[in-house]
Amino acid sequence: MNTFQDLGLNPDLLQAITDMGFETPSDIQNKAIPVLLEQDTDLVALAQTGTGKTAAFGFPMLQKIHLESRTTQGLILSPTRELCLQISNELKAYGKYCKGLNVVAIYGGASITDQARDVKRGAQIIVATPGRMKDMIKRRLVDISKIEYAVLDEADEMLNMGFKEDITDILAHTPEEKNTWLFSATMPKEVANIAKHFMVSPVEITVGNKNESTNQVTHEYYLVNARDRYAALKRLADANPDIFSVIFCRTKRDTQKIAEQLIEDGYSAGALHGDLSQNQRDLVMKSFRNQQIQMLVATDVAARGIDVDDITHVINYQLPDEPEVYTHRSGRTGRAGKTGISMVIVSKSEVRKIKSIERIIKKDFIKKDIPDGMEICE
Ligand code: ADP
Ligand code: MG
Repeated sequence: MNTFQDLGLNPDLLQAITDMGFETPSDIQNKAIPVLLEQDTDLVALAQTGTGKTAAFGFPMLQKIHLESRTTQGLILSPTRELCLQISNELKAYGKYCKGLNVVAIYGGASITDQARDVKRGAQIIVATPGRMKDMIKRRLVDISKIEYAVLDEADEMLNMGFKEDITDILAHTPEEKNTWLFSATMPKEVANIAKHFMVSPVEITVGNKNESTNQVTHEYYLVNARDRYAALKRLADANPDIFSVIFCRTKRDTQKIAEQLIEDGYSAGALHGDLSQNQRDLVMKSFRNQQIQMLVATDVAARGIDVDDITHVINYQLPDEPEVYTHRSGRTGRAGKTGISMVIVSKSEVRKIKSIERIIKKDFIKKDIPDGMEICE
């Protein structure tokens, strides 16, 4: 088995890795880090959520940039504000012994003036959402004309969210000879097209298969009367007093409503969705991360890619339209080698969706009854 030393990382990074308690590189790190360190190449890397992709591009980027220069050399595009913050915090932790390192996160909903000022101080690495990045380029608040490395993180998600045009615009402002590293959990046609369009003979790395990715997660479904959905949720929470979970709803309105109702009923809950101010979102994420909130009720967009340790349960209060979205939801639990449970509350009319999800995750659901809830089960 490889160690981080074997991968060719420098002592500053190795020290930070020791501090973080990482013992051995993950599969994607094993495969991607040496390639990115040794070659100036484009890269397409496919790996499921929770496999350590941030470090897979983060370590090589931190080692390759010139810390003595204040020019922006690395650009990481990521789909949501929360992910931008998460990635930039992670890079700062990995780079804590890299003297002079300056990583700046750029995302909507926060002061553009403050972000522009931080960039101007000399950020070697910018982590940005496509929308805000495009805006800042237009206003000439950033200069990415000397970028050496561009990362498209969660590329499938960014394209799902309609950022294709923004990404194209942004990359048009970067030098031809940069290296582009694309990371994605899945490889739909749109991602393949982007790779073809923006990359020159990329190295391709695929890690694991879909089976492995869901091995740590048990999938359960609970068939209930549609009108008893909320009652079912409460019973599930009651039956798992130590629950630390993300609860997915389909709309911002339902998300807000369910969170409020849970709080009113004495549960420890919070809401995360796009109608909240950035400040409110940051606060709720902070309380959730600190486990001051046990149940985070969220929309898919707001909770995308969120990496919070030790989530015990993912609860699908409502199922998503696209079965693929389910894999992103259930990927919030069972991370970093831990086990987790993904629960689905369904009514009779939706139960056929379970089959299409099973085909995608290549695993069977376990049908269970709501604890003490015979009267609300179908
Ligand atoms: P992904 O982007 O693939 O979803 P992340 O980069 O967010 O995954 O990493 C998931 C979690 O695993 C993070 O909390 C990260 O700190 C942790 N992690 C990453 N690499 C390692 C490693 N080699 N050993 C232990 N934990 C790791
Ligand atoms: Mg990631």
